Amino acid sequence: MSQRLRPVSPIWVAGRPQHGEEEFFVTHPYDESPVGATSWATAGQVEAAVAAASGAARECASLPAHVRAEALEHVRRRLDEEAETCAELITAESGKPIAWSRVEVRRAVSTFRWAAEEARRFVGEVQRLDTDPTAEGRLALVRRFPRGPVLGISPFNFPLNLVAHKVGPAIAAGCPIVVKPAPATPLSALHLGALFSETDLPPAMLSVLPVPDHRADQLVDDPRLPVVSFTGSAPVGKQILRRIPDKHVTLELGGNAAVLVSADYPKRDWAAERIAMYGNYQAGQSCIAVQRVFIEAPAYADMAARITEQVKALPSGDPNDPSCKVGPLISTDAAVRVEAWIEEAVDEGAKVLCGGAPREGSLIEPTVLANVRPDAKVLREEVFGPVLVLASVDSFETGLAAINDSRYGLQAGVFTESLPQAMLAHRTLDVGGVIIGDVPSFRADQMPYGGVKGSGVGREGVRWAMEDYTVERVVVLPDT
Ligand code: NAD
Repeated sequence: MSQRLRPVSPIWVAGRPQHGEEEFFVTHPYDESPVGATSWATAGQVEAAVAAASGAARECASLPAHVRAEALEHVRRRLDEEAETCAELITAESGKPIAWSRVEVRRAVSTFRWAAEEARRFVGEVQRLDTDPTAEGRLALVRRFPRGPVLGISPFNFPLNLVAHKVGPAIAAGCPIVVKPAPATPLSALHLGALFSETDLPPAMLSVLPVPDHRADQLVDDPRLPVVSFTGSAPVGKQILRRIPDKHVTLELGGNAAVLVSADYPKRDWAAERIAMYGNYQAGQSCIAVQRVFIEAPAYADMAARITEQVKALPSGDPNDPSCKVGPLISTDAAVRVEAWIEEAVDEGAKVLCGGAPREGSLIEPTVLANVRPDAKVLREEVFGPVLVLASVDSFETGLAAINDSRYGLQAGVFTESLPQAMLAHRTLDVGGVIIGDVPSFRADQMPYGGVKGSGVGREGVRWAMEDYTVERVVVLPDT
């Protein structure tokens, strides 16, 4: 397959297009052909971007809400106009099936729309103080002010939308932001830099800097970036948190998301279809992809058969094919790791219901496993590949306990139509979000999103990210 080679993408240093020190190719994960190129930001360019962000912080904080909202609306419109080109770019750099890349662009459009709306309504609150005799005759106005410039670090798996989740709220809240995109997938983020350069925002408000991991400390350590919003793997996130204990850090990390199917859930075909698809969408490379599937014993055999049948029917292969549902992993190395984990589970006695790791380059055949040992990596770690692990549980309550038996806690899905079971799940599950009647892979920008335990600290979702990037300051006024 031959790929279109794009012109070298400039990096964005304080809103200005520049070239860095050393060009590198971005390659298609499906066939490793070059699809574009950009350059690494030099230490001097990093310094210039941070100094400019810091110098412009006050100006950005006092930008009128309509200016911030109009800039966000402009980017939303441009993404909408260029939706197909952006989707092709996402597929080219990440290997995501084109149908899913179109979904990602639509999600980014909605993120910027929502950010523009929040920019207009982020007004703070009036607090009456005369509820206590000692505070009679006074009134409090509580407003949120930017903490300062934000450092946004993003992973490879949603190269556009996970950047939008940081840039949208930062601009809406009046914070300059420096984005460090994943080295494998910098092109979508750089394109966003180009779209923002068309707006009336102060140029210093956004920088997009490809920086290799071994040089990322320059950004992480810089005291002029007091807020760090990181999305990526748990080991890197925790390393960053240890390094900068005095900064305000948000960590959106990994997980081994689970579903529970109750014995009398009536729509088994629906549940099987959703579990099959969302265990394999993005080839399993999503923090909320289904990985562990707990099924109440009376429904187990039937559900296992239905899920396996649905997984076998998923079209996989070339991500440029519009019918493709499961594409390659981000690299051959990633696929080799997933293959090894599957083989290890099988060597230890797991039963292969389909797939089982025949690997072709970066492609792994969608795999369903049963009888997996409790300590197997495919169960306990984040597999980040197209692998579902099925297990039977004695009761609904045992299933909830099985979901909680994880060092992660991002989201969980519960297939039940019983309101008491739904409420029990909400009370019991140690996660950031419970999705009733569907898989854990649901996310919307108007809800808080994030994890507990090893899955992270803080919440995204536009309003919640804006709260993270800002701090409350109260003024007490006479009210007599
Ligand atoms: P990763 O941790 O390898 O990299 C994430 C980002 O961190 C990249 O930009 C990378 O260049 C950067 N980085 C690496 N080392 C660094 C360092 N020492 N200092 C500063 N930055 C550094 O993750 P990945 O492989 O790109 O992405 C996959 C992971 O992201 C999975 O664990 C997945 O679950 C997680 N993820 C979480 C969410 C969420 O919202 N919770 C969403 C998507 C992905």
